[in-house]
Amino acid sequence: MSDRSIPSYEVVVIGGGPAGLTTALYTTRLGHPTAVFEKEGGRHAMVDHVHNLLGVSEDVSGQQLATHAVDQLEHYGGDFYPDAVESVSMPDDEEPRFRLESTHATVDADRVVFATGFRDRSPDVPELERFTGRGLHYCLHCDAYTLGDGPVFVLGHDEHAAHVVMTMLNFTADVDLLLDDREPVWDDETATQLEAHPVDLVDTAVVSAYADESLEAHEPPWLGGLAFADGTEHDYLGGFAMYGSAYNADLAADLGCDLRDDGAIAVNENRETSVDGVYAVGDVTHGQNQTTIAIGDGAYAGLAIHKDLRTFPKSVEALDEVDSDGDGVPLEAPGSPPDLRAQMRCVRDLETHPGLREPSPGRD
Ligand SMILES: Cc1cc2nc3c(=O)[nH]c(=O)nc-3n(C[C@H](O)[C@H](O)[C@H](O)COP(=O)(O)OP(=O)(O)OC[C@H]3O[C@@H](n4cnc5c(N)ncnc54)[C@H](O)[C@@H]3O)c2cc1C
Repeated sequence: MSDRSIPSYEVVVIGGGPAGLTTALYTTRLGHPTAVFEKEGGRHAMVDHVHNLLGVSEDVSGQQLATHAVDQLEHYGGDFYPDAVESVSMPDDEEPRFRLESTHATVDADRVVFATGFRDRSPDVPELERFTGRGLHYCLHCDAYTLGDGPVFVLGHDEHAAHVVMTMLNFTADVDLLLDDREPVWDDETATQLEAHPVDLVDTAVVSAYADESLEAHEPPWLGGLAFADGTEHDYLGGFAMYGSAYNADLAADLGCDLRDDGAIAVNENRETSVDGVYAVGDVTHGQNQTTIAIGDGAYAGLAIHKDLRTFPKSVEALDEVDSDGDGVPLEAPGSPPDLRAQMRCVRDLETHPGLREPSPGRD
């Protein structure tokens, strides 16, 4: 039996990055009581300037984008919990199927969406991490554009790092692969490729990073270059750290969701996991790792959840079943839940009478 003192949602999304917030916006506007839990952090929060997002200028940060999206979600009646989900369980066979415990709340849900992202494994170089987004990057498609035509590094020693360093030749002729005193772990074919490409392999350990003095007035500072164990220094415009990803997939795994070999949550084209009623979207599911792709994923899941939860239009077979005794009893249409209906009216009033709109209280 469901406990009436516990808030119950049709959809609960874990993770308030671009993927999760998009799913929640879709499900809310499609008439499903929806909540998002966000524990603070995530890759979107590391983005100083959002690139490649149509219609959004690059002076917008990932955090600003998310803050605006939360305002949008709440405007349409979705709930936002600034809280970390600590467990997801399936207490019994009844609806709602899932119970989520967060640090400060307990809620029930018919459908759960993991939008928990991943963490880039950072390089083990003192001082380098403070230049994240300003010389230390993780996303080639986002940041290679800003590193063209100058000295660039790639830190790493595996197949992926080797691939990225050769790809960077599309942007700059001056690129080093920094092994940081580790043994390369790529196959013979990659070794042959690397030898043939104009890439410098540097095996000395990287011991420190320094700021670009010519940009001293710039706060926070940009990377100027790296210092090596042999006492040399090398100026760089910036570069990429390629040490793989740690997927935030533990809660999904505990629930029984299949994971891929690399630890990402496995999903089908509707972003459904292997557990019925559980979806996953964005960086936690794949290797594309782009804001726009996370947003697209979120939309796919939102639409799939709506189709799953709502039953109109009925198929001809289902209509036969409804009226199997031929008594002509009409179909009952559930419409939207009462709370959400009231919210829809409120939004409609604001849209048709903008003068009613109260000044936004703002968000930190
Ligand atoms: C430095 C940097 C720069 C980038 N620049 C760009 C760019 O310019 N353009 C671009 O398209 N992409 C860029 N990216 C990639 C982009 O940020 C990601 O692809 C995007 O944020 C993925 O969205 P997501 O919602 O899947 O994951 P995330 O943004 O990582 O969001 C996942 C969220 O889940 C939350 N979470 C995790 N576990 C829990 C839990 N148990 N309870 C509650 N909340 C939880 C986290 O706090 C996090 O906020 C960049 C990435 C980095 C690291």
